[in-house]
Amino acid sequence: MLTPRRLLVTDGSPLALAALTLQERADQTILWATPALSAAQRSAIERQAAHFGVDRVVGPGLEPASDRAPASPRTIAEGRMLFDALLAAWHCRCGRIIWPCQAGHDLERIAQVQEVVLCVGHVARLDPAWRTVGPEIRTPLLDCTDEQVADLIASGGGGMALAWWCEGQAAAPCGGCGACRHWSAVNRLVAA
Ligand SMILES: [Zn+2]
Repeated sequence: MLTPRRLLVTDGSPLALAALTLQERADQTILWATPALSAAQRSAIERQAAHFGVDRVVGPGLEPASDRAPASPRTIAEGRMLFDALLAAWHCRCGRIIWPCQAGHDLERIAQVQEVVLCVGHVARLDPAWRTVGPEIRTPLLDCTDEQVADLIASGGGGMALAWWCEGQAAAPCGGCGACRHWSAVNRLVAA
């Protein structure tokens, strides 16, 4: 039987941090580290787990990656990741997977994410054993704005210091990549 436990898909990002603030019980939350994470991303996951008292952290991302996973085509990478998360959730008896992806007001991207979730769930339910009791996939941040994500992060009490977002490999965020430009603006909202 599945349990009320949730498997939260995490790469240590501010979005994963925001989704973690929505989980009411740390003892019912399992963090699942996505594949091919950097050392900085892994340590952000550790900081988030310690801050929120989550003692179960699993997933392929805990192992140092020999090479970075290919980023495209995006929907295939996301589908593959969700299949892996579904299997992990099944083994951990989690009734729910939390995928903290955000599309804001981008209706095309929202539809794309919903379609990926539907397709993955559909393939899983082709197995009769899975059909009635398989875990469900939720995307609670999908239509959140940056302001709402910032509010969630602020509500967690640990601020952006718990997260990692830079695409670079340096010890500190580079400040110049796309992710740094985006999240530094959110950081100002969290601090405001
Ligand atoms: Zn950067």
